[in-house]
Amino acid sequence: MAGIYIHVPFCYTRCSYCDFYKTTDQQLKSEYIKAVCKEIDLNASFLKHEDIRTIYFGGGTPSTLKLNEVETIIHHLQSYINTRLVKELTMEVNPDDVTEEYIQGLVKMGVNRLSMGIQSFVDVHLRKMNRRHNAQQAKDAIRIAKENGIANMSIDLIYGLPYMSFEEWKSNVQFAIESNVQHISAYHLTFEKGTLYYDYLKKGKLAEIPEQKSIEQFDYLLNELDKAGFINYEISNFAIDGCESQHNSNYWTGVKYLGLGPSAHSFIDNNRRWNVRDTGKYIQALSSDGAYFEEEELTDSDRYNELVMLGLRTSKGIDISSIDNFNPIIRTYFNDELKKQVSHGNVVLNDGFCLVPSTKKMITDRIISDFFYVDND
Ligand code: SF4
Repeated sequence: MAGIYIHVPFCYTRCSYCDFYKTTDQQLKSEYIKAVCKEIDLNASFLKHEDIRTIYFGGGTPSTLKLNEVETIIHHLQSYINTRLVKELTMEVNPDDVTEEYIQGLVKMGVNRLSMGIQSFVDVHLRKMNRRHNAQQAKDAIRIAKENGIANMSIDLIYGLPYMSFEEWKSNVQFAIESNVQHISAYHLTFEKGTLYYDYLKKGKLAEIPEQKSIEQFDYLLNELDKAGFINYEISNFAIDGCESQHNSNYWTGVKYLGLGPSAHSFIDNNRRWNVRDTGKYIQALSSDGAYFEEEELTDSDRYNELVMLGLRTSKGIDISSIDNFNPIIRTYFNDELKKQVSHGNVVLNDGFCLVPSTKKMITDRIISDFFYVDND
């Protein structure tokens, strides 16, 4: 089993908090499409021999592509894979790109899941984040998508915004529930280097919210979504039973994937590779048969740290027997740390798995970093 990720780097504007790789230069689109098709050709052997179950168009903003541009990429993939066997074909969309015609076109091409970047249903928040859409467009986009054949939809929300009151967060969560979507991803705002908000933080124009407020917002989210029938299957992801993102779940369980497009990462046969994080350089390299990615073979400690990082974020946790696959030093390190974390109540044991209990979910990152193994050489 394997997946394909296609990074579409184009955005019309830059959101104030975003550190994903993106470009606002729309002129590069047609050359970008050619380069992605070339990259597909270069990976023909992988595509022909792997059982591809999920395809994910992420960004950037994939919905900045016109229907015929999306179709060109999907058709090109069909030269090598049978897309009818693909179980989940997801496309990230911005609400203001959603029209009946656009959704119908995507559905015709086999897109069966949308991930919509809503972030908030409060106009003031959206303006402050420099989002392109407003709250009404977000609500309309959800309705249009549902009415035009999307039965599996995810929406993204942000919490921990310095200017968001608890009442506003509560109403965002309630709107999300009332939208009757199948999946909700909720991320706490982080101030990443290179973003406008990072500059604001450094200049004192914005401040991180106190930890107690973050916990209050997260607890509210957990409780309300639980009551509404959502399963918190990964720390930031909630789904109605059976609507978990298959593509992302595969990342967390070590299934191989091929990443296409600038900045896309791949994980194939214990090798991690990452494409150049510059659309112009990516196009140039692919058009001149140049190098467009770097790669490394994962060491035992890389694989262990990845397993810990991804596993402890999921509700299932880490399969303790999988630690037997590592060298004795790592095994001893893990077992010592496990004893310590269990005695502190930070992880619990359940049927051969160790997992973070819901009361400690907010400090998951801290627990993960305690489990990390650092090579001394
Ligand atoms: S959040 Fe999405 S739309 Fe906004 S700049 Fe980042 S990638 Fe583009």
